[in-house]
Amino acid sequence: MSGSAEAAALAAPPDEVELEAELAELLAALYTKHDGLSERIDQLAARAAAAGNDRYVVLAELTRADMFNRTHRAAEGARIGQRLLESADDPVVAARAHAVISGALWRLGATGESAKHAEQAMALLGEGDPLCVRAEHAVVFAIQVNGYRLGRNPIEWFQSAQRLTEELGSPGLIIANLNNWAWVQYERGELADAIELVERMRQTAERTGLQLNASCVDTLARILLESGDAEQARSVIVGALEGFAAETDSDAIPGCLLTLAEIQRRNDEVDAAIGTLTSCREIAVRSRTAEMGARALRELATCYASVGDYRSAYEHMEAFHREWTQLRSQQAEASASVVQAVFGIEEARRRSREFQRLAERDPLTGLWNRRKSDEHLGELLATPAATRGPVSVAILDLDHFKQVNDRFSHSVGDQVLCAVAQIFREMAGPEGHAVRLGGEEFLLILPMADPAAREHCERVRRAVEAHDWSTLCPGLTVTTSVGVSEIGPGDDYSALLRRADQHLYRAKAYGRNRVISDADGAAR
Ligand code: GH3
Ligand code: MG
Ligand code: MG
Repeated sequence: MSGSAEAAALAAPPDEVELEAELAELLAALYTKHDGLSERIDQLAARAAAAGNDRYVVLAELTRADMFNRTHRAAEGARIGQRLLESADDPVVAARAHAVISGALWRLGATGESAKHAEQAMALLGEGDPLCVRAEHAVVFAIQVNGYRLGRNPIEWFQSAQRLTEELGSPGLIIANLNNWAWVQYERGELADAIELVERMRQTAERTGLQLNASCVDTLARILLESGDAEQARSVIVGALEGFAAETDSDAIPGCLLTLAEIQRRNDEVDAAIGTLTSCREIAVRSRTAEMGARALRELATCYASVGDYRSAYEHMEAFHREWTQLRSQQAEASASVVQAVFGIEEARRRSREFQRLAERDPLTGLWNRRKSDEHLGELLATPAATRGPVSVAILDLDHFKQVNDRFSHSVGDQVLCAVAQIFREMAGPEGHAVRLGGEEFLLILPMADPAAREHCERVRRAVEAHDWSTLCPGLTVTTSVGVSEIGPGDDYSALLRRADQHLYRAKAYGRNRVISDADGAAR
C-alpha cells in the first residue's frame, strides 16, 4: 500500500455513497487522464477495505484491470477479470468482471467472445445498481452493439448511454459517449449527425473545462476532413498534439498522427507526411502500440508510392505484412487462452451455484432452509452487535394448518405454504431473510430491535390474514401466530430460538393469530 493509500485508510471509513462517487471519478478518468490513476485506485481499494465494503475493493481492482486493457496490457486485464469473476458472488462485481474480460478480448481481436461477455455484463446489471457502473457499461455497450452488429439499433443505445451519462453528470463519460457516437455516424456516412455530435462534444468540453483527449481530437479532425475542411482539421490536431503529455488511450496519439499524415499527403506535402508517420511509428513502438505501428508502415508505403519511390514502398509494405501477421497470431494466442480460462470458470461456477442453491433452499417454497438459516444465524451471533446492528428472529407457525389439509386437500395446503412464503419473502425486506424451518413453520431474520420487529411482524400477520385466500379456494382463511425475540448480549443459538418458540407457544395459547415478543413480557 502506498503512503497516501494508508493515510486514506486511516481516515474515517467512507460510506457507500462516497465510495460510489469516488468510483465514478475513476471510471471517468479511464477516458481522460491516466496519470496518478493507479494511486487513486489504491486509495479507493484501501478506503473500501477500511469500511468493510468488499464490493468496492473488488470494483477498484477491476478499474485497474480496465486501465491495463486501455494501455496495451489486455492479457493482464483479462487475467484480473477472470480471477475476480471466479470469486464473484455480487452481480455488480460479476458484471464489471465480464465487461473487463470483454474489453480485453476485443483488444485481443476475439470479437465474438468479447460480444458474449458484453451481453452478460449488461444482463447482470439492474436499475438499483450504482449509476456510474451502469453509465460506463452503457457507453461501452453502445459502441459494441455497433461494432459487433449485435442485431440492435446502435443509435438507440448511444441515446440511452447519453441519458445515463448525463444523469450521472460525468463530463468525461458524456464526452466519451459523444465521441463514439460521432465516430459511428461518420463511419455510417451520416456526416450531418456526426458534425452535430462533435459540436456537442466540443461544447461539453468547453463548458466543463475538460480537455478533449487524442481519440476525441482524432474523431473531430476526421469529421472536419470529411466535410471538406482540411485546414481546420489540421489545426485541431496540431493544436492538440502539444497538450498530450500524459495520454490515456495510447492508441489515440498515433491515431491522430495517422490522420495528420493523411491530411498532409492529400495536400501533396509528402515529406511532411513521411515525417509525421516516422514519429507516429516511433511513438507506437515505444508505447507497444503494435497495431498503430503497423498502420504507420502501411501509410509510409502509400507515401513512397505516391512520389514514385517504389523500392521504399515495397519494403515498407513487406514490413507491414510481417508485423501485421505477427500481431494477429499473438492476439489469437492470447485471446484463445483467455477464452478457455473463462469458459472453465463459468462452467464450474454454474455447477457450484446450482448445487449451492439446492443445498440451501427449501424445494417447495424456494425459501432458505433450516441448514442455511442455522449457518447465517451462527455468523450473526458471532459478529459483535456494534458491527451487525440489531437483529430479531420471528418464528411463524400457521394456525390450524392441519385443518386446511383436511378440509381442502394437501395440494391446497402446499399452495398456501407457497403463498405465505411469498408474503414472508417480500416482507423480510432486502436486508432480512425468510426461512422455512419445516412443515408449516417459518422463520424471519429481521435487521431490527424488538419493538420495531414486533410491529413489523404484526404487519406480516395482518398481511397473511388479509390475503385473498378465497381465490385459491372459496371459504379458505389462513392466519399465523408469531413469536419474536431480539438477539441479546451473550445469546447463543438455542437460547434465542427457545425464547422465540416460547413466545409463539403463548401466542397459540392466547388464541392464535397474534404476535408476542420479548417486549410483551410475561403478562399476556
Ligand atoms: P396449530 O395452530 O396448533 O399450529 O395447529 P396446526 O394444525 O397448524 O398444527 P399441527 O402441528 O398439528 O399440524 C401441522 C400440519 O401441517 C400437519 C401436516 O399435515 C401439515 N404439513 C406439514 N408439512 C406440510 C407440507 O409440506 N404440505 C402440506 N400440505 N401440509 C403440511
Ligand atoms: Mg407447527
Ligand atoms: Mg401450525
